[in-house]
Amino acid sequence: MPRYPRADGRLDFKSLTLDEIESEIAGLGSEKFRALQAYKWVWQRGATTFAEMKNILTSVRAAMDERFYIPVLACDGVLESADGTTKFLWRTDDGYAIESVLIPDGDRLTLCVSSQVGCAMACTFCLTGDLGLKRHLRPSEIANQPLQIRAGLAPGTRITNIVMMGMGEPLHNFDNLVAALRTYLSADALGFSHRRVTVSTVGLVPAMQKLTELLPVNLAVSLNATTEEQRLAVMPITRKHSMAELLEACRTLPIMHHKRITFEYVMMADFNDAMEDAARLFLLLGGMKTKVNLIPYNENPSRDIKRPSDQRVYDFQTFLVERGVQCSVRHTRGIDISAACGQLGKADSRSATDWFSRNRVIGPRGDGAIGCASG
Ligand code: SF4
Repeated sequence: MPRYPRADGRLDFKSLTLDEIESEIAGLGSEKFRALQAYKWVWQRGATTFAEMKNILTSVRAAMDERFYIPVLACDGVLESADGTTKFLWRTDDGYAIESVLIPDGDRLTLCVSSQVGCAMACTFCLTGDLGLKRHLRPSEIANQPLQIRAGLAPGTRITNIVMMGMGEPLHNFDNLVAALRTYLSADALGFSHRRVTVSTVGLVPAMQKLTELLPVNLAVSLNATTEEQRLAVMPITRKHSMAELLEACRTLPIMHHKRITFEYVMMADFNDAMEDAARLFLLLGGMKTKVNLIPYNENPSRDIKRPSDQRVYDFQTFLVERGVQCSVRHTRGIDISAACGQLGKADSRSATDWFSRNRVIGPRGDGAIGCASG
């Protein structure tokens, strides 16, 4: 795993695994258990300096400080929607802007996390695709999003679910994603249940197979079409991995023994919202333990794509439900702050609120934004 050294040679503590930290600390001449102590300080208590780790000897803290740095994302602002959705605008230490979106829904509080700056997948309906890929996020940058937001929540409130559906294709940044997921799932770090963590993908078949062999997280596949031609028209990845190959892989994933795979379906008017599409989708998913999540397209001025009528969406859903398919409609959230699916990447931080200072302040502030939503 890359260690992301700074110019002064110090390593990114939050991008290292506990094993790697243990071996680094052994190299400093300290006891191995100091690594776990520092790891818990950082991931469970949100420490941003070694100086605050009071149960570690001063000399060991000083040695750690010479060997590692503890990165935080600078918060450029927080946008709050009338419907309770909150978008966080972050700045990486090399100046890139990324976003996370916090979505309350009943007793759930779901955080949508970014995995890349921009995206190489170029799905035609998605604003992040327009940016191209700037760079992969480091493990620390992926895991800092829930860590820093969690620390700013009001007492008694907690993030219940993580979805890797923000900016970027998570499986394109495979090694860093897996490292960050391990941090999410570790009882010594963020401690999320694997049932509460979902990775969304356009369908990078080999990486899907590898991920499900490594970790028991949920998988969501962004399908968005019912024929190869239709999918190719909106998702260039279809040229590399056909829909037939993708669906065959889904049928044989190890995860299928104990979980349902979710298929995301962005509904675009007069493109993929006909009853013929519903019928084809039903046949395509036959024999799989699945959930279908219909996402009525969120219009924006840069695209000539229309949202289907509510009736059309209802009929499509009803067709599937009547045939035994578990199918829900994702209600649009955060549209007034450009936090809805497919809308990320056009945030304006001028309307940012003082969310952190109303709760607990973390990190420096600045200006700017960006982001996306995979289906
Ligand atoms: S939908 Fe997801 S994979 Fe497609 S371009 Fe947007 S961020 Fe990338």
